Amino acid sequence: MADFDGLSESLNARKTQHLYRSRRLLGSAQQPEQQVDGKSVLSFCSNDYLGLANHPEVKKAFIEAASEYGVGSGASHLVNGHSQLHHELELKLAELTGRDRAVLFSTGFMANIGTISALVGRGDAVIQDKWNHASLIDAGLASGAKFKRYPHCDLNGLERQLNSCSEARRKLVVTDGVFSMDGDIAPLDRIADIADAHNACLMIDDAHGLGVLGATGAGSAELFNLSQERLPVLMGTLGKACGSFGAFVAGSEELVETLIQQARSYIYTTALPPAVAAASLASLKLIQTEAWRRDKLQILIAQLRGGIESIGFPLMRSETAIQPILVGDAALALDISQQLEQRGLLVTAIRPPTVPEGTSRLRITLSADHSSDQIELLLSALQDIYQQLSDEKKAQLSDVK
Ligand code: PMP
Repeated sequence: MADFDGLSESLNARKTQHLYRSRRLLGSAQQPEQQVDGKSVLSFCSNDYLGLANHPEVKKAFIEAASEYGVGSGASHLVNGHSQLHHELELKLAELTGRDRAVLFSTGFMANIGTISALVGRGDAVIQDKWNHASLIDAGLASGAKFKRYPHCDLNGLERQLNSCSEARRKLVVTDGVFSMDGDIAPLDRIADIADAHNACLMIDDAHGLGVLGATGAGSAELFNLSQERLPVLMGTLGKACGSFGAFVAGSEELVETLIQQARSYIYTTALPPAVAAASLASLKLIQTEAWRRDKLQILIAQLRGGIESIGFPLMRSETAIQPILVGDAALALDISQQLEQRGLLVTAIRPPTVPEGTSRLRITLSADHSSDQIELLLSALQDIYQQLSDEKKAQLSDVK
């Protein structure tokens, strides 16, 4: 390991900077009450926003499809892994998003890598919000296109970056629909206007919007009523509000066919297990028929925000199920997370490099499966912890507000 000298030093440095991350062992299904590291806890850190990951109908669809199709898909889509269930799911996703077609990817990370690299390369430009998901940033860097970033949701910054690459052959503007560590929603209508004025194509990653936003759960594009023409590249994932696994890109016939022909992370990987596609189909049905899940989530979000604001913790500006408390200091965020855990409440401390230095936060995520009483439990624990903070620490919190 001579060439890798320094690995333990850098691991130790992470520990001393309170940036070391460890995994917990989940011993139960993804639902508010969980067994974690052998203890019963109430979790506020899942992306299962609608409570579908453990839904009886979703599980039934999965089990029945596994009985019929087996477990593994056996091959990539272009060899012979593309089953009838994958096909049906693609049709359903196109219908839900109001697009001509959709193509499945095995994960959201792979969808972003494959799509951006298939659409832009040398001589082109990709322009991204600075806080886009890591997979979009990596995809932009790997594409070979000129890579530009604008400050978070800063429309003047976006214009400036577009002006600075006016000579590029193709220009692709890319933004998260809902920002995963902040919970805020991108101003997509205005971003679409700017992209249009600069003859650029717009792509969104709607991993955290799909299922949760829009009247029918079609996500951020539906919320802003953005047609395929205005928003040509719509990527979504199935592992969050859908409670399943996988991802897709929806758009025109030409876009989808280009991805099938050219996206390397689509071509050179095993297709999702067909039973996973069946589970996604069942959850999409629930997303469309059970609008009450979205309504309930909104009620819980309002309850949580109201409670946290009255305690005094600084909340970020978010209308979604992602409700981060901005703590600032990594050690303090970790300390509060540990105190919550001692009370049986699971809230992850998100620290650099996932978020910028000085913006460590407690990322609370809500699910339609939470009850109002469970939100109260979290609020009362937060109140206790806040009251016990020293004045100096409280002042630190108000500094980041
Ligand atoms: N985009 C965003 C915004 C995400 O939050 C995530 C998952 N954390 C991904 C893409 C990756 O999706 P997947 O987990 O399906 O790879």
